[in-house]
Amino acid sequence: MTPLTNYHSVSSGTAPARFLTTSSILIPADFDSDASLADLWSLHDDAMATFDRSERTKELERTKEPEGTTLLDLKIKIADRMLENCHFCDRRCGVNRRKGELGYCRIGAVSRYASEFLHYGEEPELVPSHTIFLSGCTFSCVYCQNWEISTNPDLGVPVLPEDLARIAVVNHSLGARNLNFVTPTPHLHSVLRILRILARMGVNTPIVWNSNMYHSEEAAKLLSGVVDVYLGDFKYGNDECAKRYSDADHYMATVTRNFLCAYDDSEILLRQLVLPGHVECCTAPIIEWVRGHIPDIRFHLMFQYRPAHLAHRYPEINRTLSEGERELATRLAGEGVRR
Ligand code: SF4
Repeated sequence: MTPLTNYHSVSSGTAPARFLTTSSILIPADFDSDASLADLWSLHDDAMATFDRSERTKELERTKEPEGTTLLDLKIKIADRMLENCHFCDRRCGVNRRKGELGYCRIGAVSRYASEFLHYGEEPELVPSHTIFLSGCTFSCVYCQNWEISTNPDLGVPVLPEDLARIAVVNHSLGARNLNFVTPTPHLHSVLRILRILARMGVNTPIVWNSNMYHSEEAAKLLSGVVDVYLGDFKYGNDECAKRYSDADHYMATVTRNFLCAYDDSEILLRQLVLPGHVECCTAPIIEWVRGHIPDIRFHLMFQYRPAHLAHRYPEINRTLSEGERELATRLAGEGVRR
């Protein structure tokens, strides 16, 4: 299948976004607020089986939201519980963000966003993309080009789901081809709430999850049936480089697990930002892994690296790419991975 086929159907309005299907599946028994997390997951897994059946025969009629508690409501409920013992990402800090405790990302219970606009700088399939830059990040990339946003979780405007949903509707009517959440993982609970409002309004737009793919296994289960395109970074080909430049542990196990899950669930646009001096240790093994495991995705090899933020402290990446590095990466990608 051509990469992003379903995305194009949703974007052109001939198929429903996946969150609309999720919000049309009723949970047979209403969950009470004291239900254990294990019970909620059990309900979730049963409802996801219904979702999988609905996906196979999806029709636009199903975009009407039914009366009652839906699978999307249940996902919101579970996300709220996860926030009280935060394991949205694989750092699994276990803090109660609702009570003001802060984990590695220092993001509180209330999400904030630094900006939102119709973005024309994303991949051609995506533009114009209504892009919402959420504040903070679960990584600490020393070369981050958005470091003013990623290192400042208190930056910007608090997310009021009703307001952002209204803004999304306006941008949809202005021609946005999708709704693109940037650095969304620590904000999963807020993103799901925005989608519930959009579902009630009957807005049909593809959801783009623009992330470092470092979310937890549980977060991946909540995303399943919600995301139309995983716009995922695959930054490193080994754990040592991930630790050195992003302070991320067990990177390969986490990110490959999440890409496999995403592949199973929906469509992927994978970004590989080529780092200077890292074609052999990062770009090449990533290409190899993609070829062997998720071969027919949309693969975007990116050459726009420039040393930003703290890159000057790391002499080996304190430069732009050489022509030779671009050529080698291009040749490697061309040998087996669709670009
Ligand atoms: S999102 Fe990740 S880094 Fe932030 S508190 Fe939760 S587990 Fe920790």
